[in-house]
Amino acid sequence: MIRECDSCGMRTTDYTELKCPKCGNPIYRCSSCKSNVVNYVCKKCGFEGP
Ligand SMILES: [Zn+2]
Ligand SMILES: [Zn+2]
Repeated sequence: MIRECDSCGMRTTDYTELKCPKCGNPIYRCSSCKSNVVNYVCKKCGFEGP
């Protein structure tokens, strides 16, 4: 399945799924954003996290 990275917007199949600690919304990050510890923003509640 192809997902859009929530940090950089790149469409990728190489992603990690995590849940927003605030609202539980699934967040997807590509492997490069994960290894670079790029911040993400939850699309649902606006939570920003590493
Ligand atoms: Zn990314
Ligand atoms: Zn959230």
